[in-house]
Amino acid sequence: MTRRVTILAGAALAASLAGAAPEKAGQAPRGLDRAGQADRIFVGGRVWTGEPGQPLAEALAVRGTTVLAVGKSADVRRHSGKGTEVVDLRGRFVAPGFIDGHLHLLGGSLSLEELRLDDAETFPALTQRVRDWATANPDAHWVTGEGWTYAAFPDGLPSRLQLDAIVPLRPAFLVSYDGHTGWANSMALRLASVTRETKDPPGGEVVRDAKGEPTGVLKESAMELVGRLVPKPLPHEKERALRAGIAQAAAWGLTTVHQAGISEEEIEILSKALEAVPRLRVYAALDIERDPTPEVLARQDEIRRRFASDRLRVGAVKGYVDGVVEAKTAAMFEPYVGGGSGLPEWTQEELDRAVAAYDKAGWQVMLHAIGDRGIDMALTAFERAARANGTTGRRHRVEHIEVPRTADLPRFKAGGIIASTQAMFPYPNRNHLGVYVPTLGPERARRAMAFKAIDDAGAVQAFGSDWPVFTAEVVRGIACAVTRTTVEGTPAGGWEPSQRLTAEAALRHFTRDAAFAEHAEKEKGTLAPGKAADFVVLSQDLLAIPPERIKDTKVLLTVLGGQDTWRAKEF
Ligand SMILES: [Zn+2]
Repeated sequence: MTRRVTILAGAALAASLAGAAPEKAGQAPRGLDRAGQADRIFVGGRVWTGEPGQPLAEALAVRGTTVLAVGKSADVRRHSGKGTEVVDLRGRFVAPGFIDGHLHLLGGSLSLEELRLDDAETFPALTQRVRDWATANPDAHWVTGEGWTYAAFPDGLPSRLQLDAIVPLRPAFLVSYDGHTGWANSMALRLASVTRETKDPPGGEVVRDAKGEPTGVLKESAMELVGRLVPKPLPHEKERALRAGIAQAAAWGLTTVHQAGISEEEIEILSKALEAVPRLRVYAALDIERDPTPEVLARQDEIRRRFASDRLRVGAVKGYVDGVVEAKTAAMFEPYVGGGSGLPEWTQEELDRAVAAYDKAGWQVMLHAIGDRGIDMALTAFERAARANGTTGRRHRVEHIEVPRTADLPRFKAGGIIASTQAMFPYPNRNHLGVYVPTLGPERARRAMAFKAIDDAGAVQAFGSDWPVFTAEVVRGIACAVTRTTVEGTPAGGWEPSQRLTAEAALRHFTRDAAFAEHAEKEKGTLAPGKAADFVVLSQDLLAIPPERIKDTKVLLTVLGGQDTWRAKEF
């Protein structure tokens, strides 16, 4: 059934590709006499096509929504005729449109206007940011925000008393940068009736002090105890945020994003926003259902049929096997430094059953798995489903793969399983070096975010951002994967430098491999005749400049299906 859906999506894309592009005023209608004539040609550049047979070119011709020709400037110029626009790239770098293999478009879009704590790396900076926001927003009933890092707190975790000191008279609830841990003040706990008597919900923890009192830290599913009280944005507010988020994504050079989990209500809103701002393609995963009964599968299949265009396509379901390292909720074979070995959210049997049901019904399954035990559980479920159902080519995906056992890496290639990693996850800031690495201990830290080892094991590795966990600015992601340093260049030489990638490998993971990860490598992800005219023009040649300069690269132009979706003033 995946094959059928793929063909449908391919057919939908082909149909839209065959359709005429909007004609420019004064231009003759397209006919046989114009066969082979481009609408626009871009010449005199350095084009990285992503095609193994012809990785480099100088020029690109576009007709309608697709690429007409790629090659030397003189050859591509032959496609120009009356009405063809010729753009001189003046040596600039062109790459296929960036594809973010894992993000949360609504969360990211909302984060553009929320209280953000990401770059407040110290406790004083963090408290000042919260205080400023509370002062500037006296009418907000709640003080809410996201992005604090564990390293900002002396104990690696915050407490309600610290938040009471900043926000005493209103409920406050602030979520960690990874979205897996909540920090509530006393009033928020009181409103939510979280007391020493409150039991830990399944898959979550109410952190308590030595006397058994809640500290204000709520891990994983326990976040909902308070989170459900926080005023939610209304549908029109979500749509407004999404329109801004889509425009921002185009400015970052993105032409496609993979939405890692979405509710049935939110996909309707996303669909409207994409119609209003048609500057992005979205490949969406619905939220996984723990018990995919025939009724559930029928309902989800209906959504899959409805959203099957090249602009918004549903093809996967996404679930969580475990949590995150810093909160010690990622599932590990061996205990963390200081104890605990994580919380798998399923038993292996439950996971096997759900994955097999989706596999049988033709779905691609995306499973968040960070700890070595969680990753093994996900791989095992995929392998068993393929065996039980006799299926191949589903391209199931493990999301994040932060701390795999080295011996498990060959299982990706063997099982045709996609390694979906996030280029900025090894970003060696205070949180990473001060909390993440010490929580793992040295042996596990050495095999964390092992991008090079994953490539060497022959896996298809698709890069994403996990926006809003990290920015979805792709050049920042490429810079991190290539240098493994912060933008300030620390630590010198990079963190675990043996796992650094070449710029070309990083580009490939953000283009061709990410297209493969959504069953769309025939339609996009590289620049070749007949493929979607999705590409970016960058200010610097990523393949030629020193790695430490990659981060300064500007996106000058983003083209999606032949149409400009972003153009910098300087282009
Ligand atoms: Zn995510």
